[in-house]
Amino acid sequence: MDMDRNSLEVKIALQAMTMASTLCEKVRGKLAGGESILKSDRTPVTIADYGSQAIICKFIKEAFPRDTIVAEEDSRELRKSIHSKILEQVTQYVDEFVLGSSLQTVCSWIDFNSQVVTDRFWTLDPIDGTKGFLRGDQYAIALALIENGLTKLGILACPNLYVDKDRPHGKRGCFFLALRGEGAVQMDIDGGDKRSLSVSKVSDPSKATIIESVEPDHADHLFHQRLAQKLNISKPSLQMDSQAKYGIVARGEATIYLRVPSSSEVGYKEKIWDHAAGSIIAEEAGGKVTDVLGHPLDFSCGTKMEKNQGIIVTNGILHDVVLNALKM
Ligand code: AMP
Ligand code: MG
Repeated sequence: MDMDRNSLEVKIALQAMTMASTLCEKVRGKLAGGESILKSDRTPVTIADYGSQAIICKFIKEAFPRDTIVAEEDSRELRKSIHSKILEQVTQYVDEFVLGSSLQTVCSWIDFNSQVVTDRFWTLDPIDGTKGFLRGDQYAIALALIENGLTKLGILACPNLYVDKDRPHGKRGCFFLALRGEGAVQMDIDGGDKRSLSVSKVSDPSKATIIESVEPDHADHLFHQRLAQKLNISKPSLQMDSQAKYGIVARGEATIYLRVPSSSEVGYKEKIWDHAAGSIIAEEAGGKVTDVLGHPLDFSCGTKMEKNQGIIVTNGILHDVVLNALKM
């Protein structure tokens, strides 16, 4: 039987992601408070990464013990005695949501991550857009369920993203959710104000808005600029961290998300947890997602998308136009 919006998968995933979002915002709040912990580059984010992964893996694995989880983190570093303080902090944060958490249980929940791709598995990025998280910009918690190589469910929690595209300084905190064949919706992070998503109807390429990563190592910004010129796009590109970019295309705020591999990172292979949730959300909102050669994204090779190169997301109408411009 196919999943629907009331299925156990959706319910458990949303519950766990709501807790993880609250945990991440609490950690972020402490950073914004200017504590010296901000000076240490990895530490603060590590706490939020680990806490988010522990909570989500615990709830998913307990509800669906036969499913596997492919996630970004594991507890190897965390278990080292030099990191005992970090593990204590992670455990304290997790304990606010799961009473009675211990150092040991937190590590074991993080390690529900088996890194094994099976017939039915979940893929999780506990904090996508780490650099955005540290800067106080955008980040996402990304979770997708993949069955026989096809993404069936994708959820993005974007705790710091404005809910209304026309009010960028207004209320923040969004969920994007898509089920294969059932469309995509956005909700406030507290579950309210559910609305269906649809991509922009722009058919004149010169009227399109491009979105790309903030980090120049993650995509070739210069190449994107040249492509924009070819398409007669004069509007400057938007830049945003994390898979929130897929949500931005899904809700029609941008028309094209470009991720042409950076020339400084030749041979980089995208990770499945960086694209599975976002891509189904853009597709179910009417968009199209392929790699730079026009090939569909393949999430069945393992943790890396070995068969793909870069990512192109459009409103569908402009997809071939963009792919053709890439070849020129
Ligand atoms: P974004 O916020 O869209 O720039 O993407 C963040 C993600 O980029 C991280 O989760 C990393 O897994 C991924 N990443 C790291 N290095 C690269 C790279 N050289 N090219 C593309 N993506 C990368
Ligand atoms: Mg990521």
